[in-house]
Amino acid sequence: MLKNKITPQETSELKKYFNECRNVVIVSHTAPDGDAIGSSLGLYHYLTRKGKHVTVIVPNLFPDFFRWMKDSDKIVIYERQKTHANVVISQADLICCLDFNVPSRIDELQVPVMQARCRKILVDHHIGPDKSLGDIVISHTDASSTCELIFRIITAIGGYDALPFAGAESLYAGLATDTGFFNYNSNNPDVFIILSELLRKGIDKDLINRRIQNNFSPDRVKFLGYVLYEKLKVYSDLHASYFSITRDELTQFNYVKGDMEGIVNMPLQIKGHKLSISLREDTEKDMILISTRSVDDFPCNEFCAQYYNGGGHKNASGGRLYCSMEEAIAITERALEEWSERLKAE
Ligand code: 5GP
Ligand code: MN
Repeated sequence: MLKNKITPQETSELKKYFNECRNVVIVSHTAPDGDAIGSSLGLYHYLTRKGKHVTVIVPNLFPDFFRWMKDSDKIVIYERQKTHANVVISQADLICCLDFNVPSRIDELQVPVMQARCRKILVDHHIGPDKSLGDIVISHTDASSTCELIFRIITAIGGYDALPFAGAESLYAGLATDTGFFNYNSNNPDVFIILSELLRKGIDKDLINRRIQNNFSPDRVKFLGYVLYEKLKVYSDLHASYFSITRDELTQFNYVKGDMEGIVNMPLQIKGHKLSISLREDTEKDMILISTRSVDDFPCNEFCAQYYNGGGHKNASGGRLYCSMEEAIAITERALEEWSERLKAE
């Protein structure tokens, strides 16, 4: 049996909010991932079936390999449709903030969202939620994904039948991608109960996995080889590594959004490896985007907060630096040095 994390009081409050709204806006974080898009569309399909007028808005473009999700083409990209999005937000009587903990995670979209005086709900699994993002805050850092929490919410409110098939497909996407296809963050048996409930809806997980994972261009596959062969700097004694990618290198391999996805996980295949760091120049703004991945107890979020103006989960975090790549590399080498005792330990 699924142990529900949503209390009876939360269930009745959420029910009230979802019953009394007409125009709903769902927002999720910048550089939207599978959990951001999946949880947003999962809730979207539930509320749309309830007869609500729902709009999903994200700060910027999401990777093509999430385009198979039903109605993903209706997602409003704030960067591209600011005026339209601002109107929709001003008319909303409910805003749902999904899969982020602080307003800065939605970039400029935070301005209209924080200004809006309507009811708000925050559903998230990152540490340190900013409670001003929701009149109702459903925050569980031990949840595998926001999709898991949306599944729990929908079934707590409306039961299993309340979740439409397209919603089940979307929720699966976030459950799968936030756990690295059930490789981490998924020791809670509930994850597999939810997975089996989604399968019972008739979703084809093998097909969805292929749509998400096997969607690269030949250039992207060669790019992976290039990064690992030419760019990866391994510190074997520290069980750590980093690689840096410039804008020119991205151009050389005809980079498209999503092409960096997953590469930062690869060095963790080295025996005993604890920390993998990816530094790459943004394709538009003058900044370096950082992604980190770790295993066991190494706290990527503390590491990213200390050096990269970022944060996230213990084993997967990110951040940004506004400097040159040379400086970002210097910061990274100093960071590895400063954490060397912790990294060296077996
Ligand atoms: P990714 O490496 O996939 O971009 O991000 C991994 C995780 O780190 C994300 O799920 C997100 O929770 C977190 N993260 C990424 N960038 C930032 C950031 O700038 N600030 C914070 N607080 N978290 C971030
Ligand atoms: Mn997530």
